[in-house]
Amino acid sequence: MAGKRLILMGPPGGGKGTQAKRLQDRYGIVQLSTGDMLRAAVKAGTAVGKEAKAVMDDGKLVSDDLIVAMIADRIAEADCANGFILDGFPRTVPQAQALDKLLKDKGIRLDSVIEVAVPDARLIERITGRFTCAKCGEGYHDKFKQLKKAGVCDVCGSTEFIRRADDNAETVGARLKAYHDQTAPLMPYYKAQGLLKVVDGDRDMNLVTGDLERILGT
Ligand code: ADP
Ligand code: ADP
Ligand code: ZN
Repeated sequence: MAGKRLILMGPPGGGKGTQAKRLQDRYGIVQLSTGDMLRAAVKAGTAVGKEAKAVMDDGKLVSDDLIVAMIADRIAEADCANGFILDGFPRTVPQAQALDKLLKDKGIRLDSVIEVAVPDARLIERITGRFTCAKCGEGYHDKFKQLKKAGVCDVCGSTEFIRRADDNAETVGARLKAYHDQTAPLMPYYKAQGLLKVVDGDRDMNLVTGDLERILGT
């Protein structure tokens, strides 16, 4: 039986957040997005936010220590007890090792690590077309997931939207480099643990969701 503590891996713009939100609703498990947490910290002007901002704007990775401390606090919260989807974490081998230790100390283990695979050539278009509702966080795309009514969020009716500062063609190159250099080594790491599954993320988002649901079961 497939369980419900999982990691969604994949390149920037690959569809992790889109899929994690759907799995959150479907299975009642929480999405833990380190990118969202960092953006909230930047917005709130906390010490973590101040440290992370310039690094994020450059498309580089924030320090392992900062990220691991942030996720350790978050996983300890009550809403994670029923399961969680790690979205955008871990991104380096030291982060994965720290996660292994953290979970071991809590007496829990990961059920699956799923790579949403998308070729680099697709990602610039995915990233530069991305925007989200400022109020409810629903994700959209200029071409691939348009608003049903122009200027109005399908979900909550808000008329305010956000585009990320790092979602520009210049920064994408650095983000892809970080992915290939620092995050790709996690695939063999989890493969060796027998946890890795790969889904083809270069298809319609509903088909990707179907694959994920087949892996996770009921
Ligand atoms: P990530 O969290 O991996 O960075 P997102 O889920 O934010 O990626 O997706 C990036 C952009 O691509 C969003 O605008 C989203 O609406 C769109 N998108 C997600 N999945 C697909 C897909 N399968 N096909 C086309 N566009 C997609
Ligand atoms: P993406 O859409 O590229 O997958 P995220 O929202 O996951 O973006 O991350 C945005 C930025 O936040 C990254 O480019 C990086 O600077 C920082 N970040 C997020 N998660 C991590 C992590 N686990 N380790 C280091 N940096 C991170
Ligand atoms: Zn909304």
